Amino acid sequence: MFYIEIFTVICLGLVLGSFATALIYRVPKKLPWGAERSACPECKANLGALDLIPVLSWCLSGGKCRHCSNKISSRYPLTEIVSGVLCLLIYLVYGLNISSLFLIASVPFLIALCVIDLRHMILPNQLVFILMGVGGVRLGYLFYSGDNLQATELLTVYIAGAFTYGFISWFLGFVLTKILKRNSLGFGDVKFFIVAGLWLGLNALPYFMILSGTLAIAFALCWRMVFKQDVFPFGPALIVSFYSLLLLQGSFSFLN
Ligand SMILES: [Zn+2]
Repeated sequence: MFYIEIFTVICLGLVLGSFATALIYRVPKKLPWGAERSACPECKANLGALDLIPVLSWCLSGGKCRHCSNKISSRYPLTEIVSGVLCLLIYLVYGLNISSLFLIASVPFLIALCVIDLRHMILPNQLVFILMGVGGVRLGYLFYSGDNLQATELLTVYIAGAFTYGFISWFLGFVLTKILKRNSLGFGDVKFFIVAGLWLGLNALPYFMILSGTLAIAFALCWRMVFKQDVFPFGPALIVSFYSLLLLQGSFSFLN
């Protein structure tokens, strides 16, 4: 049973990773996500079921389009593998149940936000709002499914968390903008803080601030070395901290 579940979760993760690559390609171009069929970006040939098996299609075709033989970036299978691993970790901590499916469902959106922020320095609203919505439905499920979440906890830990994370990040951005005399924390980042508060709750706030702050400083230093730029995307540090704490909450009760 254990191995069947692991196999199922990895396959699900790979498929969600494939969905993430579609989001990464389509959302910044403002293309509809699902309406059109997937096509080769070079020759525009429609991709059939055989071309769309995560990782496997890429390996079997030698990393080339079957129609025009153009090279297909290894970023596609890599993104799928990362998604598979992230989903597997969620399974290993939380098992396979409705509650953990909410976490697994967030993975393609987290990956897409991370990559889009790295490339375009923006956290697109639609993706952030979806995470907010999934987080809200998850809380509703935990609340209505019985003893997991009490009404007071829902209000004082999670709803209050969303407001507090949002307010603190807005305030931080306001102060930093005054000190550094340039726009320091985008509104996309503030909205992601609200998402983090809604999912992680108030008790994880100090850990989220410390972890994301440390990662952001390390990341900013690397960014400056590689790209010689002072302005760097804050999203990846936020997203990595968010996912790590979601996992850690499964093992450490003081984070909940
Ligand atoms: Zn092609």
